Amino acid sequence: MSAIDQEVAGYYDKLLKRNAGEPEFHQAVAEVLESLKIVLEKDPHYADYGLIERLCEPERQIIFRVPWMDDNNEVRVNRGFRVQFNSALGPYKGGLRFHPSVNLGVIKFLGFEQIFKNSLTGLPIGGGKGGSDFDPKGRSEGEVMRFCQSFMTELWRHIGEYRDVPAGDIGVGGREVGFLFGQYRRLANQHESGVLTGKGLEWGGSLARTEATGFGCVYFTEEMMKANGESLDGAKVIVSGSGNVATYAIQKAQELGATVVGFSDSSGWVETPNGVDVELLRDVKEKRRERVSTYVEEAQGTTFHSDGSIWDLKADVALPCATQNELEAEHARTLVDNGVRYVAEGANMPSTPEAVEIFRSNKINFGPGKAANAGGVATSALEMQQNASRDSWTFDYTDQRLHGIMSNIFKLSAETAAEYGHEGDYIVGANIAGFKKVADAMLAQGVI
Ligand code: GLU
Repeated sequence: MSAIDQEVAGYYDKLLKRNAGEPEFHQAVAEVLESLKIVLEKDPHYADYGLIERLCEPERQIIFRVPWMDDNNEVRVNRGFRVQFNSALGPYKGGLRFHPSVNLGVIKFLGFEQIFKNSLTGLPIGGGKGGSDFDPKGRSEGEVMRFCQSFMTELWRHIGEYRDVPAGDIGVGGREVGFLFGQYRRLANQHESGVLTGKGLEWGGSLARTEATGFGCVYFTEEMMKANGESLDGAKVIVSGSGNVATYAIQKAQELGATVVGFSDSSGWVETPNGVDVELLRDVKEKRRERVSTYVEEAQGTTFHSDGSIWDLKADVALPCATQNELEAEHARTLVDNGVRYVAEGANMPSTPEAVEIFRSNKINFGPGKAANAGGVATSALEMQQNASRDSWTFDYTDQRLHGIMSNIFKLSAETAAEYGHEGDYIVGANIAGFKKVADAMLAQGVI
């Protein structure tokens, strides 16, 4: 073991002990530390002033009770979280996730990733994340509203335009942001549009924010393909998931001439050899809030599968857009055997470390979530700009800005990877480029 290997192993051992029972957080940190060894080899000053240990410790972690009454007048108690991880570059920024799998470790992994992702956008936003173990599935609109109001009744004192700006994530879409904003406005007694992003278009939301994560993931994919003289035109694409990210990744991939051959939700996956009817998909998932099997009943030539995996499909491009660790080693092996050439993560950390290793050793072009799904939060920062100047931009202008940001993230990741001797390794490139900007800011601002 080299001295740097030993030093980094020391940080990691300490982190494991101080953050027991948080496997997703450990996984996210381990991946970044692996890339940081390469930086420390060249620039050892990045370990000065306890920088690495400070970076792995959230600035603040808020955990609170969220009591609410269900439709049968029974009291329910959930747990709310907001992890304000790093504000060296700007106010904490990151989504809220409502899902039964949420716990502190999950929010910490998401908040940690958010630091580097937000740094890569080049916009002035720090990293944070929050959420609750509340399960919106099967809940009435009234229940969702009462839950959101109770959640915000605690959260409101911790957020603000210059402090912390939450947004959506899994289980939190336009409807929930609306309920959250309404309660914030009432408690704070001010219409502070910059306090949340992903708002409705009539009250400070930005055009193209809804589409941004999915579109951005496809723009990043396009850049990876362009670097090899290829394009999405005529390509076969698998997109896992069918939520906000997946839906707009499907739409953009098809606009650019690809055929999306499958998508999924937690109940199973759908084979769509002739492509996806995005209007129907939105109607089933967004409006009617039903499962993907309903899509199959209404779309000809499609098949629903409740067993096997969407990764069994043959395609040139795979876009995991569902959730963390959804793509495991055996799936990666099948994808590689079936000739996949490009993988870009629309979700946060959807590939397990073993799956990533298989893609790496087979020289698959791999866009890590921090880079490939940064389009959502980048467009949130554009929403903040519009709010700050009391302006609203056109869809085309906002989409153009998003496209430019995604191209820059690709360029920065590719150039940084090459600079550190790891050409084509966009994981290393994104981790190092994201890290250096935050690290420089932290070093300049002293030990805080
Ligand atoms: N939840 C999204 C993400 O993972 C977006 C966060 C935001 O817009 O603040 O980046």
